[in-house]
Amino acid sequence: MNKPASVPEQFDVVVAGAGFSGLYMLYRLRQLGLSVKVLESAGDVGGTWYWNRYPGARCDIPTTDYTYSFDPELEKEWTWSEKYATQPEILDYLQFVADRHGLRSDIEFSTTVTSARWDEQENRWRLTTSCGSEIRCRFYIMATGCLSMPKAADIEGAGRFAGQVYFTSRWPHEGVDFTGQRVAVIGTGSSGIQSIPLIARQARELTVFQRTANFSIPAHNGPAPADRLKQLGEDRAGYRHAARWSRGGVPIEPTDVLGGTASEAVRRERFEAAWEQGELFGILNVFADQGVNPAANDIVAEMIREKIRSIVKDPETSEVLCPKDHYFGTKRPCLDTGYFETYNLPHVRLVDLRKQPIASITEEGIETADESFGFDAIVYATGFDAMTGALVAADVAGRDGVSLQEKWAAGPSTYLGLMTAGFPNFFMLTGPGSPSVLSNMTVSIEQHVDWVAECLEGMREAGLETIEPTTLAEAGWNQHVQDCAAITLHPTANSWYMGANVPGKPRVFLPYIGGVNAYRQACDEVASQGYLGFRLTGPGEDRCWDGVIRRMQPDVAMVLEIMAGMGMPPMETLSAADARALMAAAAQTRPPGPEVGEVTDGVIPIPAGDLPYRLYRPAGPPEGPRPLVVYFHGGGWVLGNLDSDDPLCRDLCARSGAVVVSVNYRHAPEVRFPAAAQDAFAAVQWADANAIELGGIPGQLAVAGWSAGANVAAVACQLARDAEGPHISGQLLICPVVDSDMARPSYIENGDGYILTTALMRWFWDHYADPADRGDPRATPLRGDLKGLPSACIVTADFDPLRDEGVAYARALEAAGVPVRLARARGHTHTSVTMVGVVISGAPVRAEIGEALRDFFPAP
Ligand code: FAD
Ligand code: NAP
Repeated sequence: MNKPASVPEQFDVVVAGAGFSGLYMLYRLRQLGLSVKVLESAGDVGGTWYWNRYPGARCDIPTTDYTYSFDPELEKEWTWSEKYATQPEILDYLQFVADRHGLRSDIEFSTTVTSARWDEQENRWRLTTSCGSEIRCRFYIMATGCLSMPKAADIEGAGRFAGQVYFTSRWPHEGVDFTGQRVAVIGTGSSGIQSIPLIARQARELTVFQRTANFSIPAHNGPAPADRLKQLGEDRAGYRHAARWSRGGVPIEPTDVLGGTASEAVRRERFEAAWEQGELFGILNVFADQGVNPAANDIVAEMIREKIRSIVKDPETSEVLCPKDHYFGTKRPCLDTGYFETYNLPHVRLVDLRKQPIASITEEGIETADESFGFDAIVYATGFDAMTGALVAADVAGRDGVSLQEKWAAGPSTYLGLMTAGFPNFFMLTGPGSPSVLSNMTVSIEQHVDWVAECLEGMREAGLETIEPTTLAEAGWNQHVQDCAAITLHPTANSWYMGANVPGKPRVFLPYIGGVNAYRQACDEVASQGYLGFRLTGPGEDRCWDGVIRRMQPDVAMVLEIMAGMGMPPMETLSAADARALMAAAAQTRPPGPEVGEVTDGVIPIPAGDLPYRLYRPAGPPEGPRPLVVYFHGGGWVLGNLDSDDPLCRDLCARSGAVVVSVNYRHAPEVRFPAAAQDAFAAVQWADANAIELGGIPGQLAVAGWSAGANVAAVACQLARDAEGPHISGQLLICPVVDSDMARPSYIENGDGYILTTALMRWFWDHYADPADRGDPRATPLRGDLKGLPSACIVTADFDPLRDEGVAYARALEAAGVPVRLARARGHTHTSVTMVGVVISGAPVRAEIGEALRDFFPAP
């Protein structure tokens, strides 16, 4: 019964939605003894599985995994009948769960939350509902689903059609009989692909309107897989634990086979096994690099296309069904039962909307640019306003009346996908910025619910009333979410993950792609660090440990983790010879770097002997001379050679369009300070004198270096200035050593754990220069006269002990009137920017470096 509006009901917590998320949330909140009300638009529990009743609707994660794990007794009492259960069975299951725990008594069905307002005075949310009631609560939790807001029919004339109209996402409960009918299906995502074969069984004629061909693999449905049942039977708790700490929420062994380097036989074998297995996480795990490397992705994609061509008899139709406009996996792949085979039926036709777009829906049917079609029924399988649709539609306004819609006008902004700044005590389950739709959602849902429940419990124990993320923590998380996506191929697709399916929606990657395990770890760390990045208040209390939970680029973190796992001895414990051997061995396994036009080796004659050099000439036009960059490798004056920095030099050459001459100067401890610096200057003089022979443009010469190489490059500039020649157009200093002072904050923050350590830097200095020499500007250019030096581009990395001296050098150069471009390698270490082909997130930094090098020279 509705309460009069003047007497609002009061609860500790209101939850909107009674699908997987809302039901478990209610269960946990009740356990805590909190007063709870769940409001649900639908007539019963189930969420997705209540609404999506179209023929063929099933899960696409094996049901043994797509199930609650919080109640072992429940698991014993319920047995799934198939590998991929049907919608009615999943709905039965959720009804069973609701009954078993008596959840319905706290759920108000057929009730939509129409608005939510934060009352700053009362520290309460004020909700209004579609039934006209007003409810107050301390905490408001939206369990409203990622795929619950159907996309409106965004086709001209959609309202005009006189026949029957169906949306897969709002299918009639009584079912639909298409017998004898001419039916149109618009859309070939998962919903279309599941329903089309079954609609084809009934319809007299079926016409499928496809805008984008989709990748789909056969589900090979049947009984639940025996191996998985066995694992569950033997150790259910262990299996569920493994799922929680897996990447996607289903325990599988991630492969380390790389598509690019695997043999044809291995590629084929792995693909065929995944095809036969019929599981999404299997086909997404054919190669370790298929999600990030276009070439590896193409191998899997082409094998799927081969399968499509082998199934669909009409070559023209099969070609239209072959996806070619996006990388495999960047739109959610589908699992089907007889989908492609359906197009071999004589009464089924495929219309390619890329060739003949829909002009309008008419009273009788559909008109494309070329044809008019008459139909009795149109089925829209056109998808959802995913991840943000239901949240924004529910009219939530936080502090100062700012609505979610306003705050998220340029895309959603959340902390951990759980909360958003300015909206105290407001939680989202599987919100944008959490793994959600990229994972087995039941695992992600349970994790979110548990986190929220523990948070509320902790607040109660501590007598706290409000919780809200800080803008710093939130911005940091948003950045991390985008950083994780940026190293994958995902952002290249026009997918609903990117919001690209809804006209006008901001193009932002919505879910967190770093993995369920990494995400869980981050959430746990936030909580264990006293709710890092949250402000918590209570009577007489206002506490906040502000900060960012993940600042490192995800692929840099991955490299560090792999290296830590290799158990290599710290370099500073080795002899110089052993350290060099270790570095050479590591270089054997890395990618070679980009192709360039020409690579030649030679020697530079200097009085002390010959210095080897390697010259890189860019591929392609223009013919003729190019600007010249003399490059010095890194390695603390002790390590490194022409091979060590070969991929980086190729990259610099390809990006800058300059001829790069990489010089191997003499090393310590065999030859100590100032030999390396003198060699560098001699090499620059020689390159300038021989510019024409090297293919360079006389007078257009820059120097570049990384780490100790940047040190000698910087020194060479000072020596050239003092000697009044040669003229140097610019200096590129990547993570340079410019001072021997190890007291700067970056040494304190980053002195351990990021490959270049304080101990290693000390080892380098000890090999190179006596303490008495370390104040000499030829060792520490920061202490030199900086007037009249060439323009500089200085790259500093966040997790580098040398970061602050790089910044100090930039500031000092600026103060001396030198133009400086300071490029920050955000989330990088001393070494990661140079890891060409390994650390993908270094590419944008190197693109900026390439631009800086080009800017040193006059435009061609
Ligand atoms: P939902 O199930 O979407 O429930 C949200 C509920 O909130 C809905 O019932 C809605 O009516 C209600 N609601 C929304 N707004 C309001 C409001 N303002 N007031 C009151 N109530 C509101 N995921 C997988 O991991 N594996 C699968 O195999 C899989 N298959 C899927 C198949 C289909 C057809 C679809 C559409 C999605 C599938 N998903 C799958 C994703 C699926 O949505 C989740 O797995 C899961 O069911 C989501 O549960 P939920 O409770 O978070 O949201
Ligand atoms: P979807 O993946 O977004 O697919 C919608 C389809 O409709 C696409 O082919 C789209 O083409 C097309 N479309 C949209 N608007 C159109 C227009 N105006 N004109 C022509 N075509 C149009 O939606 P979905 O199939 O409902 O699936 C959504 C998600 O729900 C899935 O990715 C999955 O996560 C989940 N789901 C899972 C299952 C399962 O197997 N368990 C089943 C259904 C849904 P474009 O690609 O060109 O936009």
